[in-house]
Amino acid sequence: MGMITKDKSYFSSVCVETCGGICCDPWWGIISYPVVKQGGLASLSSFRAEVLKGIRARAQRIIEAYITSEEAPRALFKSPEKYNVLVRDIRATGSTITMNLVAMFAFRCAFVSADRSCAIHPLNTGREIRPPHCGFLGTPEAGPGEKGYCRIIHAALTGETAGIEKALAIEQQTASKNLSEGVGTAEEAADRVVDGVKAWCERYAPALLPRERPGAPIGRNDPCWCGSGQKFKKCHGK
Ligand code: SF4
Ligand code: SF4
Repeated sequence: MGMITKDKSYFSSVCVETCGGICCDPWWGIISYPVVKQGGLASLSSFRAEVLKGIRARAQRIIEAYITSEEAPRALFKSPEKYNVLVRDIRATGSTITMNLVAMFAFRCAFVSADRSCAIHPLNTGREIRPPHCGFLGTPEAGPGEKGYCRIIHAALTGETAGIEKALAIEQQTASKNLSEGVGTAEEAADRVVDGVKAWCERYAPALLPRERPGAPIGRNDPCWCGSGQKFKKCHGK
């Protein structure tokens, strides 16, 4: 293994010789965001629509942010190849459910070469045209939890073969696990989130599950049967 350069604009020999560019193929974009659902799961379809809209918006945000800094910018990514959206920290207060969604998107970068190296790396182009995050990848100065941290680079800095192999195995396993657990569409990811929240409600907050529409007639100005708190005419009576 060669020496690791501390110059961020340089190819790290570890990335090329030891790792082979695990983090670029696929490249995982991760966004964590809060979701608040008032009125419980009164309407599963409206909750699903909200979740789906949120997932699509985050994926689009990444696509728009990751462009080259050229006169005519080029996008690194098209649509995600895989979606893996996890529900975290779910809780209910009254009829309000709050949670954090960790949305992970696997993208295939337009500039990753067959050998997983970066075709638009400064060493190939003579200038840095990649989005800022690419320049941070594997920054040796970054510690755990900091932007640009890579356990493989840090293990390589110690020079201990066992530690490097362990770090490589962890990264490879994590990448494969995330990919195999992901689904191919935003719709499927939204369905999983809804199923997960529904299962949580069944166990911890059954009162927040969707209700069945009563057989008796409902006045247009009566509260909606679903428990949303809205008038029937503005909710399921539309
Ligand atoms: S930053 Fe880490 S995971 Fe990414 S290519 Fe370099 S060594 Fe591999
Ligand atoms: S532009 Fe280069 S460093 Fe950035 S994700 Fe694509 S291949 Fe990786």
